[in-house]
Amino acid sequence: MENLKSKIIVLMGGQGAGKGTHAKNLVAQKGFKYIEVGAILRDLPAESPMKQIMARGELVPSSELFKIISAAIDSNGKSDMILDGFPRNVEQAQWLVQQYVYDESPYDLHVLHLSLPENVMLERIANRVKEGGGRADDTDVAVVKKRLECFKRETIPAIEFLENVKGIHFYTVDVSSKDFATNFTNVCKALGIDDIDINKVQVNVAKL
Ligand code: AMP
Repeated sequence: MENLKSKIIVLMGGQGAGKGTHAKNLVAQKGFKYIEVGAILRDLPAESPMKQIMARGELVPSSELFKIISAAIDSNGKSDMILDGFPRNVEQAQWLVQQYVYDESPYDLHVLHLSLPENVMLERIANRVKEGGGRADDTDVAVVKKRLECFKRETIPAIEFLENVKGIHFYTVDVSSKDFATNFTNVCKALGIDDIDINKVQVNVAKL
């Protein structure tokens, strides 16, 4: 029987793993809806207390995010979608599972862990800054280091938790290759997507 559930593809990985670039290429080629949590937060008014937390490289309170995430998922109706930047800790991962992983759920959860060594993460952030495409929170080395510590302390346990949840499709893809197209091909393979036009892959996401 045809699977009528909508896919939620959850992209997880540290800084420089290419979550945004992979997501935008998948969106461009497969028409998925895209929920980019960091961008939603960056769009908040400057005086929002969450903006100050972000500037320090810390995580904003999960309770604030639950409303944002469920509204964003609901607004996509029955479309398949990519969720980028959530969950970032075990509390958020548990919430996601409670909300969306159960027998009659209208959603199928696919969790894709984009894996790469720490030194490559730092190298990519430094390059992002050098090339001028970096974000405000990339330019301060102390903030970058804090985000990395936060990833190791909070997000890795969330990834390990999701890997063991029954009913989740979980994949780990090594994205340490310097060649983005190679990494993207491996991401698509893991997701079972075989109709990608590799000539249309873009590394400069600003143009997508
Ligand atoms: P990102 O663009 O995904 O790196 O997110 C930028 C910043 O937004 C992070 O450093 C956090 O301060 C905040 N943020 C994004 N996603 C989350 C999340 N799931 N939980 C808490 N804070 C988040």
